[in-house]
Amino acid sequence: MATDCIELIRELSDAFGPSGFEDDVLSVIRKYAGRFGRIEEDRLRNLYVYRSENTGDKPVLMLDAHSDEVGLMVQAVRPNGTVKFLPLGGWNKPSLPGSRMLIRNAEGKLITGIVAAKPVHFMTAAEKESTAFEIADLSLDVGAVSKAETEELFRIAPGDSIVPLTEFRYDAERGLLFGKAFDCRIGCAALIETLSRLSGRELSFDVVAVFSSQEEVGERGVQAAVKKVSPDIAVCFEGCPADDTFTEPWLTQTALRRGPMLRHMDKSVICNPRFMRWATDTAKQSGIPVQCAVREGGGNNGAVINISQGAVPVIVAGVPVRYIHSPNCIAAYSDFENTVRLAVRLAENMTPAVTDSF
Ligand SMILES: [Zn+2]
Repeated sequence: MATDCIELIRELSDAFGPSGFEDDVLSVIRKYAGRFGRIEEDRLRNLYVYRSENTGDKPVLMLDAHSDEVGLMVQAVRPNGTVKFLPLGGWNKPSLPGSRMLIRNAEGKLITGIVAAKPVHFMTAAEKESTAFEIADLSLDVGAVSKAETEELFRIAPGDSIVPLTEFRYDAERGLLFGKAFDCRIGCAALIETLSRLSGRELSFDVVAVFSSQEEVGERGVQAAVKKVSPDIAVCFEGCPADDTFTEPWLTQTALRRGPMLRHMDKSVICNPRFMRWATDTAKQSGIPVQCAVREGGGNNGAVINISQGAVPVIVAGVPVRYIHSPNCIAAYSDFENTVRLAVRLAENMTPAVTDSF
Protein backbone atom coordinates (compact mmCIF):
# COMPACT_ATOMS: atom_id res chain seq x y z
CA MET A 1 0.00 0.00 0.00
CA ALA A 2 2.87 2.34 0.80
CA THR A 3 3.67 3.27 -2.80
CA ASP A 4 0.04 4.06 -3.56
CA CYS A 5 -0.21 6.30 -0.50
CA ILE A 6 2.91 8.23 -1.49
CA GLU A 7 1.38 8.89 -4.89
CA LEU A 8 -1.86 9.94 -3.22
CA ILE A 9 -0.04 12.33 -0.89
CA ARG A 10 2.01 13.66 -3.81
CA GLU A 11 -1.03 14.47 -5.93
CA LEU A 12 -2.86 16.07 -3.03
CA SER A 13 0.15 18.12 -1.93
CA ASP A 14 0.89 19.39 -5.43
CA ALA A 15 -2.77 20.22 -6.18
CA PHE A 16 -3.66 23.92 -6.47
CA GLY A 17 -6.28 24.66 -3.82
CA PRO A 18 -6.26 27.78 -1.68
CA SER A 19 -9.42 28.53 0.33
CA GLY A 20 -12.36 29.01 -2.02
CA PHE A 21 -10.55 27.45 -4.99
CA GLU A 22 -10.48 23.77 -3.97
CA ASP A 23 -11.58 22.37 -7.37
CA ASP A 24 -8.29 20.68 -8.33
CA VAL A 25 -8.00 19.04 -4.91
CA LEU A 26 -11.53 17.68 -5.23
CA SER A 27 -10.64 16.15 -8.62
CA VAL A 28 -7.84 14.19 -6.94
CA ILE A 29 -10.14 13.14 -4.09
CA ARG A 30 -12.85 12.00 -6.54
CA LYS A 31 -10.26 9.96 -8.41
CA TYR A 32 -9.10 8.10 -5.29
CA ALA A 33 -12.23 8.04 -3.09
CA GLY A 34 -14.98 7.66 -5.69
CA ARG A 35 -14.87 3.87 -5.47
CA PHE A 36 -15.70 3.82 -1.77
CA GLY A 37 -19.14 5.37 -1.97
CA ARG A 38 -21.53 7.90 -3.43
CA ILE A 39 -20.07 11.35 -3.94
CA GLU A 40 -21.80 14.69 -3.62
CA GLU A 41 -20.41 18.20 -3.90
CA ASP A 42 -22.08 21.36 -2.65
CA ARG A 43 -21.58 24.90 -3.90
CA LEU A 44 -19.14 25.83 -1.19
CA ARG A 45 -16.99 23.06 -2.71
CA ASN A 46 -17.49 20.67 0.20
CA LEU A 47 -17.16 17.09 -1.08
CA TYR A 48 -19.08 14.26 0.62
CA VAL A 49 -18.43 10.52 0.34
CA TYR A 50 -21.28 8.35 1.65
CA ARG A 51 -19.77 4.91 2.20
CA SER A 52 -21.31 2.20 -0.03
CA GLU A 53 -21.89 0.02 3.03
CA ASN A 54 -24.09 2.62 4.75
CA THR A 55 -27.59 1.34 5.54
CA GLY A 56 -29.29 4.61 6.46
CA ASP A 57 -30.58 3.34 9.81
CA LYS A 58 -27.39 3.62 11.87
CA PRO A 59 -25.97 6.60 13.73
CA VAL A 60 -23.58 8.68 11.64
CA LEU A 61 -19.82 8.92 12.08
CA MET A 62 -18.48 11.97 10.25
CA LEU A 63 -14.84 11.89 9.19
CA ASP A 64 -13.62 15.35 8.23
CA ALA A 65 -10.50 16.75 6.59
CA HIS A 66 -10.28 20.17 5.00
CA SER A 67 -9.27 20.37 1.37
CA ASP A 68 -8.06 23.98 1.22
CA GLU A 69 -4.58 25.34 1.91
CA VAL A 70 -3.30 28.75 2.92
CA GLY A 71 -2.87 30.89 -0.19
CA LEU A 72 -2.99 34.44 -1.47
CA MET A 73 -5.33 36.52 -3.59
CA VAL A 74 -4.46 39.27 -6.06
CA GLN A 75 -5.75 42.58 -4.76
CA ALA A 76 -4.37 44.95 -7.40
CA VAL A 77 -1.59 45.46 -9.90
CA ARG A 78 0.87 48.19 -9.02
CA PRO A 79 1.98 50.78 -11.63
CA ASN A 80 5.35 49.00 -11.89
CA GLY A 81 3.66 45.72 -12.84
CA THR A 82 4.15 43.90 -9.55
CA VAL A 83 1.13 42.37 -7.82
CA LYS A 84 -0.26 43.45 -4.47
CA PHE A 85 -1.94 40.56 -2.67
CA LEU A 86 -3.85 39.66 0.46
CA PRO A 87 -3.50 36.44 2.44
CA LEU A 88 -6.03 33.60 2.32
CA GLY A 89 -5.45 32.17 5.78
CA GLY A 90 -2.82 32.71 8.43
CA TRP A 91 0.60 32.67 6.84
CA ASN A 92 3.86 32.23 8.64
CA LYS A 93 4.87 35.70 7.42
CA PRO A 94 8.68 35.34 7.39
CA SER A 95 8.36 32.36 5.04
CA LEU A 96 6.87 34.49 2.27
CA PRO A 97 9.68 36.73 0.94
CA GLY A 98 11.78 34.86 -1.60
CA SER A 99 9.19 32.13 -2.18
CA ARG A 100 8.14 31.09 -5.65
CA MET A 101 4.38 31.22 -6.28
CA LEU A 102 1.87 30.21 -8.92
CA ILE A 103 -0.95 32.58 -9.87
CA ARG A 104 -3.93 31.07 -11.66
CA ASN A 105 -5.26 33.71 -14.05
CA ALA A 106 -8.81 33.99 -15.36
CA GLU A 107 -7.92 31.81 -18.36
CA GLY A 108 -6.77 29.07 -15.99
CA LYS A 109 -3.09 29.50 -16.87
CA LEU A 110 -0.53 29.18 -14.09
CA ILE A 111 1.89 32.12 -13.97
CA THR A 112 5.14 31.89 -11.99
CA GLY A 113 6.08 34.70 -9.66
CA ILE A 114 8.33 35.48 -6.72
CA VAL A 115 7.33 37.16 -3.47
CA ALA A 116 9.58 40.18 -3.48
CA ALA A 117 10.85 42.15 -0.56
CA LYS A 118 13.02 45.22 -1.05
CA PRO A 119 16.56 44.09 -1.92
CA VAL A 120 19.09 44.73 0.80
CA HIS A 121 21.11 46.87 -1.66
CA PHE A 122 18.36 49.47 -1.69
CA MET A 123 17.58 49.50 2.00
CA THR A 124 18.35 52.38 4.33
CA ALA A 125 20.35 51.62 7.45
CA ALA A 126 17.12 51.74 9.49
CA GLU A 127 15.38 49.32 7.11
CA LYS A 128 18.30 46.89 7.40
CA GLU A 129 17.89 46.89 11.17
CA SER A 130 14.16 46.22 11.15
CA THR A 131 12.78 42.71 10.67
CA ALA A 132 9.14 43.74 10.85
CA PHE A 133 7.05 43.88 7.71
CA GLU A 134 3.42 43.66 6.69
CA ILE A 135 2.06 41.26 4.07
CA ALA A 136 0.39 44.28 2.49
CA ASP A 137 3.85 45.73 1.75
CA LEU A 138 5.07 42.65 -0.14
CA SER A 139 4.79 42.24 -3.89
CA LEU A 140 4.47 39.29 -6.17
CA ASP A 141 6.80 39.84 -9.10
CA VAL A 142 5.99 37.96 -12.31
CA GLY A 143 8.80 39.63 -14.25
CA ALA A 144 6.63 42.21 -16.01
CA VAL A 145 7.85 45.77 -16.54
CA SER A 146 4.52 47.58 -16.44
CA LYS A 147 0.97 47.35 -15.15
CA ALA A 148 -0.24 46.96 -18.73
CA GLU A 149 2.02 43.97 -19.29
CA THR A 150 0.86 42.20 -16.11
CA GLU A 151 -2.76 42.81 -17.00
CA GLU A 152 -2.73 42.31 -20.76
CA LEU A 153 0.06 39.80 -21.37
CA PHE A 154 -0.09 37.80 -18.16
CA ARG A 155 -3.87 38.30 -17.82
CA ILE A 156 -3.58 38.80 -14.07
CA ALA A 157 -6.52 40.51 -12.37
CA PRO A 158 -7.94 41.13 -8.89
CA GLY A 159 -9.43 37.95 -7.45
CA ASP A 160 -6.91 35.58 -9.00
CA SER A 161 -5.70 32.99 -6.50
CA ILE A 162 -2.15 32.05 -5.59
CA VAL A 163 -0.34 29.10 -3.95
CA PRO A 164 3.36 28.28 -3.45
CA LEU A 165 5.23 26.67 -6.32
CA THR A 166 6.48 23.67 -4.38
CA GLU A 167 7.04 20.22 -5.79
CA PHE A 168 6.49 17.21 -3.52
CA ARG A 169 9.48 15.01 -2.70
CA TYR A 170 9.60 11.71 -0.86
CA ASP A 171 12.77 10.50 0.83
CA ALA A 172 12.03 6.77 0.83
CA GLU A 173 15.14 5.85 2.79
CA ARG A 174 14.13 7.97 5.74
CA GLY A 175 10.37 7.88 5.26
CA LEU A 176 10.15 11.67 5.04
CA LEU A 177 7.69 13.77 3.07
CA PHE A 178 8.55 17.25 1.81
CA GLY A 179 5.94 19.49 0.19
CA LYS A 180 3.36 22.21 0.56
CA ALA A 181 -0.18 22.16 1.95
CA PHE A 182 0.29 19.17 4.29
CA ASP A 183 -2.24 21.12 6.38
CA CYS A 184 -4.53 19.49 5.55
CA ARG A 185 -3.81 17.41 2.42
CA ILE A 186 -2.01 14.82 4.51
CA GLY A 187 -5.23 14.66 6.54
CA CYS A 188 -7.21 14.27 3.29
CA ALA A 189 -4.86 11.44 2.29
CA ALA A 190 -5.26 9.77 5.69
CA LEU A 191 -9.04 10.02 5.38
CA ILE A 192 -9.02 8.48 1.88
CA GLU A 193 -6.74 5.65 3.03
CA THR A 194 -9.00 5.07 6.05
CA LEU A 195 -11.99 4.70 3.70
CA SER A 196 -9.94 2.27 1.64
CA ARG A 197 -9.06 0.05 4.61
CA LEU A 198 -12.65 0.12 5.88
CA SER A 199 -14.04 -0.74 2.44
CA GLY A 200 -16.30 -3.80 2.56
CA ARG A 201 -16.24 -3.87 6.36
CA GLU A 202 -19.44 -3.86 8.36
CA LEU A 203 -19.47 -1.10 10.98
CA SER A 204 -21.92 -0.04 13.70
CA PHE A 205 -22.05 3.44 12.17
CA ASP A 206 -22.84 4.88 8.78
CA VAL A 207 -19.72 6.76 7.72
CA VAL A 208 -19.80 10.05 5.86
CA ALA A 209 -16.46 11.49 4.81
CA VAL A 210 -16.40 15.25 4.35
CA PHE A 211 -13.62 17.06 2.54
CA SER A 212 -14.53 20.51 3.72
CA SER A 213 -13.61 23.81 2.09
CA GLN A 214 -12.36 27.14 3.42
CA GLU A 215 -11.08 25.99 6.82
CA GLU A 216 -8.12 28.33 6.69
CA VAL A 217 -10.28 31.44 6.48
CA GLY A 218 -12.45 30.54 9.49
CA GLU A 219 -13.88 26.99 9.26
CA ARG A 220 -16.51 28.06 6.74
CA GLY A 221 -17.10 24.92 4.67
CA VAL A 222 -17.68 22.68 7.65
CA GLN A 223 -20.41 24.98 8.97
CA ALA A 224 -22.53 24.09 5.95
CA ALA A 225 -21.37 20.47 5.84
CA VAL A 226 -22.26 19.62 9.41
CA LYS A 227 -25.88 20.69 8.85
CA LYS A 228 -26.12 18.42 5.82
CA VAL A 229 -24.48 15.39 7.45
CA SER A 230 -26.05 15.66 10.94
CA PRO A 231 -23.35 13.54 12.58
CA ASP A 232 -23.73 11.73 15.90
CA ILE A 233 -19.98 11.63 16.41
CA ALA A 234 -16.97 12.92 14.49
CA VAL A 235 -13.25 12.53 13.95
CA CYS A 236 -11.35 15.35 12.27
CA PHE A 237 -8.09 14.63 10.47
CA GLU A 238 -5.52 17.40 10.43
CA GLY A 239 -2.02 18.31 9.45
CA CYS A 240 -1.03 20.02 12.66
CA PRO A 241 1.97 22.14 13.65
CA ALA A 242 4.93 20.10 14.94
CA ASP A 243 6.70 21.78 17.83
CA ASP A 244 9.75 19.55 18.20
CA THR A 245 12.36 21.77 16.55
CA PHE A 246 11.92 24.80 18.79
CA THR A 247 10.26 23.64 22.01
CA GLU A 248 12.02 22.34 25.10
CA PRO A 249 11.83 18.53 25.18
CA TRP A 250 9.69 18.58 28.33
CA LEU A 251 7.09 20.71 26.57
CA THR A 252 7.21 19.04 23.17
CA GLN A 253 3.80 17.57 22.40
CA THR A 254 3.77 17.22 18.63
CA ALA A 255 6.97 15.57 17.45
CA LEU A 256 7.77 13.82 14.21
CA ARG A 257 7.57 10.00 14.35
CA ARG A 258 5.58 9.84 17.59
CA GLY A 259 2.23 9.16 15.91
CA PRO A 260 -0.89 11.28 15.51
CA MET A 261 -1.42 14.18 17.86
CA LEU A 262 -4.74 14.17 19.72
CA ARG A 263 -5.45 17.56 21.23
CA HIS A 264 -7.19 17.94 24.57
CA MET A 265 -7.88 21.52 23.64
CA ASP A 266 -6.86 24.44 21.51
CA LYS A 267 -8.16 27.98 21.35
CA SER A 268 -11.35 26.84 19.63
CA VAL A 269 -12.40 23.55 21.22
CA ILE A 270 -12.13 21.25 24.22
CA CYS A 271 -12.26 17.83 22.63
CA ASN A 272 -14.78 15.58 24.40
CA PRO A 273 -12.72 14.25 27.36
CA ARG A 274 -14.51 10.88 27.46
CA PHE A 275 -14.02 10.38 23.71
CA MET A 276 -10.36 11.38 24.17
CA ARG A 277 -9.92 8.83 26.95
CA TRP A 278 -11.53 6.08 24.88
CA ALA A 279 -9.43 6.97 21.81
CA THR A 280 -6.14 7.00 23.72
CA ASP A 281 -7.04 3.74 25.52
CA THR A 282 -7.94 2.15 22.19
CA ALA A 283 -4.63 3.32 20.70
CA LYS A 284 -2.71 1.90 23.64
CA GLN A 285 -4.47 -1.47 23.47
CA SER A 286 -3.77 -1.60 19.73
CA GLY A 287 -0.10 -0.65 20.02
CA ILE A 288 -0.59 2.55 18.02
CA PRO A 289 1.59 5.46 19.19
CA VAL A 290 -0.27 8.71 19.87
CA GLN A 291 0.76 11.96 21.52
CA CYS A 292 -1.56 14.32 23.35
CA ALA A 293 -1.32 18.08 23.28
CA VAL A 294 -2.74 21.07 25.10
CA ARG A 295 -2.47 24.02 22.74
CA GLU A 296 -2.70 27.67 23.57
CA GLY A 297 -3.56 28.82 20.06
CA GLY A 298 -4.86 27.12 16.97
CA GLY A 299 -8.32 26.22 15.79
CA ASN A 300 -9.90 23.56 13.66
CA ASN A 301 -13.10 22.19 12.17
CA GLY A 302 -13.71 20.10 15.29
CA ALA A 303 -14.75 23.29 17.08
CA VAL A 304 -17.64 23.83 14.68
CA ILE A 305 -18.79 20.21 14.68
CA ASN A 306 -18.56 20.02 18.48
CA ILE A 307 -21.18 22.71 19.10
CA SER A 308 -23.50 21.82 16.22
CA GLN A 309 -26.63 19.66 16.02
CA GLY A 310 -27.24 19.54 19.75
CA ALA A 311 -23.57 18.82 20.56
CA VAL A 312 -21.41 16.27 18.77
CA PRO A 313 -18.47 14.56 20.54
CA VAL A 314 -15.36 15.15 18.45
CA ILE A 315 -11.66 14.40 18.52
CA VAL A 316 -8.94 15.69 16.21
CA ALA A 317 -6.20 13.38 14.93
CA GLY A 318 -3.35 15.44 13.54
CA VAL A 319 -0.35 14.28 11.55
CA PRO A 320 2.56 16.34 12.91
CA VAL A 321 3.85 18.69 10.21
CA ARG A 322 6.85 20.94 10.59
CA TYR A 323 6.43 24.50 9.28
CA ILE A 324 2.75 24.47 8.32
CA HIS A 325 1.35 27.63 6.77
CA SER A 326 4.58 28.12 4.84
CA PRO A 327 5.60 27.00 1.32
CA ASN A 328 7.64 24.05 2.61
CA CYS A 329 6.59 21.41 5.12
CA ILE A 330 8.10 18.19 6.47
CA ALA A 331 6.16 15.18 7.74
CA ALA A 332 6.97 11.55 8.50
CA TYR A 333 5.31 8.72 6.62
CA SER A 334 5.06 6.67 9.82
CA ASP A 335 2.87 9.37 11.40
CA PHE A 336 0.54 9.26 8.39
CA GLU A 337 0.38 5.45 8.68
CA ASN A 338 -0.33 5.52 12.42
CA THR A 339 -3.05 8.13 11.95
CA VAL A 340 -4.77 5.82 9.46
CA ARG A 341 -4.35 2.82 11.76
CA LEU A 342 -5.88 4.74 14.65
CA ALA A 343 -8.85 5.98 12.60
CA VAL A 344 -9.56 2.49 11.27
CA ARG A 345 -9.39 0.97 14.73
CA LEU A 346 -11.69 3.66 16.20
CA ALA A 347 -14.25 3.11 13.43
CA GLU A 348 -14.11 -0.67 13.95
CA ASN A 349 -14.48 -0.53 17.74
CA MET A 350 -17.06 2.23 17.90
CA THR A 351 -20.56 1.16 18.92
CA PRO A 352 -23.58 3.26 19.91
CA ALA A 353 -23.13 1.97 23.48
CA VAL A 354 -19.59 3.35 23.52
CA THR A 355 -20.44 6.74 22.01
CA ASP A 356 -23.62 7.17 24.11
CA SER A 357 -21.34 7.19 27.15
CA PHE A 358 -19.31 10.17 25.88
ZN1 LIG B 1 -5.67 22.39 8.99
